[in-house]
Amino acid sequence: MTSIVYHPDYLLHETGNHPERKERLLAIMRLIEESGINVQRIEPEKAPIEQIICVHDPEYIEKVKYHSEHEIPLDPDTVVCRDSYHVAMLAAGGAIRAIDLAMGGDGAFALLRPPGHHAFPGRGSGFCIYNNIAIGAKHAQRKGCKRVLIADWDVHHGNGTQHIFYDDSSVFYFSVHQYPYYPGTGSAGETGEGDGRGYTLNVPLPAGSGDAMYIYAFERILMPAAREFDPDIVLVSAGFDAHLDDPLAGMAVTTTGFAKMASIVSSIADKCCVGRLAIMLEGGYNLHALSHSVLAVLGVLEANHGDVKT
Ligand SMILES: [Zn+2]
Repeated sequence: MTSIVYHPDYLLHETGNHPERKERLLAIMRLIEESGINVQRIEPEKAPIEQIICVHDPEYIEKVKYHSEHEIPLDPDTVVCRDSYHVAMLAAGGAIRAIDLAMGGDGAFALLRPPGHHAFPGRGSGFCIYNNIAIGAKHAQRKGCKRVLIADWDVHHGNGTQHIFYDDSSVFYFSVHQYPYYPGTGSAGETGEGDGRGYTLNVPLPAGSGDAMYIYAFERILMPAAREFDPDIVLVSAGFDAHLDDPLAGMAVTTTGFAKMASIVSSIADKCCVGRLAIMLEGGYNLHALSHSVLAVLGVLEANHGDVKT
């Protein structure tokens, strides 16, 4: 069975006139309903503080609480409202729940907000409060996954995720992104440090790159690296802001291109780890492109997980 992890309180993170707005999730959920795709909807719980602390500094968690209460932005891009402290814990909880579902053999897509891959241990940035996928990766490891692969196809480099696991050989971070572009990191020379050297793999691409370049990167660069790393679970930072119609960035990926990338990561999960695959929503700011791309990815999960695996 394919699951979507979603909580109506994700809509309570009010950002005002901002690209990362609740209408993104409303458009996705409306299209899923209209399409009649066979997915089960799962409501997550808030991530416990003990699990958030595995990635974030306690002082930062207190800061998020204070800034939410007083509605003070965490940085110029990252606005918060009174409910954001609560919603950010629910977003991290969504990542955790998606991983539990993936461990149980279901394909899972966490349709969460705020996104996470620009969040650092001690600071939020780029619309992100907590690093949902990093909290999820630590959770997967506690559940027995020794090696975690994170593939990030958001148009922006996941600087927070890379930083968190930069010296860690148990989490392989792969990112394809527009470069040079926000946040400025993600050159091919950034490959990890210490024990983590060789476990960060960046594929910076010029503006205008489309399906062919992305699929090449996933098939020819990620696939062999993933087979060698041999993950116990595959996690995806799925932003849809590399779409041709996205207003923020300058790439040219189509809905079909995202489906193809989903099918490649799904085949990696099938080959390496009995199909354990959990996808987390990151960016994507054109409502039509975003919702249709999410539906296309769900179609791939449904095709792969529709039958009960033995
Ligand atoms: Zn992005």
